[in-house]
Amino acid sequence: MKTKTEGIVLSVSDYKENSEKISVLTKDKAYLSFIIRGSAKMTARNKIFPLTVYEFIYDEKDGRDMYAMQGRNVVRSYLSHDLKKDAFTDVLIEAVRRITCEETNELYEDLLFVLDNLEKAPYLYGSYLLARLLYYSGFRPYIDGCVVCDSKLIAGLSIERGGLVCAQHKKATDIDDLDLVRHFRHLQLLTKENLPLYKEEITLEDFKLLIDFIERHLDLRMRSFSFFLVL
Ligand SMILES: [Zn+2]
Repeated sequence: MKTKTEGIVLSVSDYKENSEKISVLTKDKAYLSFIIRGSAKMTARNKIFPLTVYEFIYDEKDGRDMYAMQGRNVVRSYLSHDLKKDAFTDVLIEAVRRITCEETNELYEDLLFVLDNLEKAPYLYGSYLLARLLYYSGFRPYIDGCVVCDSKLIAGLSIERGGLVCAQHKKATDIDDLDLVRHFRHLQLLTKENLPLYKEEITLEDFKLLIDFIERHLDLRMRSFSFFLVL
């Protein structure tokens, strides 16, 4: 039986005999992979592009998560053809691809909301998405008090220990710029509804702290972020 599902392309890779394999985060069927026959040929007319949302048509059979794609329609593309902007979107997509979470319907909604608004304030919306990923994957930083003693008198942020720290437990290597500490805390608390009202300026430095947190606690190297930084 033919099934249709909407999803965003997370990666495109070569597969056997001129085919390609794509991994997709779907609106309501979690993560799926599709094989696209012949799409690796130079002349292929069924090319699939990254940073793009499609409606995928395939034959659904129970208990599988990889399908032969039978057709697709473009829903919308987030490719800007501006190298720096696309490299930043790639960082978000790499995070979504590599941080597995259960709440994929919510994540899909968050991701499209962020991509729709990214132009307005890239680091604010990008940081919001990373914070949501940490929340969904169970790696949310501790922001209700000092991560060691729960004191509410906060003096810094320890990426290493996973949350805020008081003066007594702050180490020399911890972050003590209180603007950065406050932003880090706010970013974990923002919701889709109040995010557009958030007025503080979120910069690359704030975004980088979330990347540092992800790299340390989820043991990942975000290659797309290193690439973004050298552009
Ligand atoms: Zn403490």
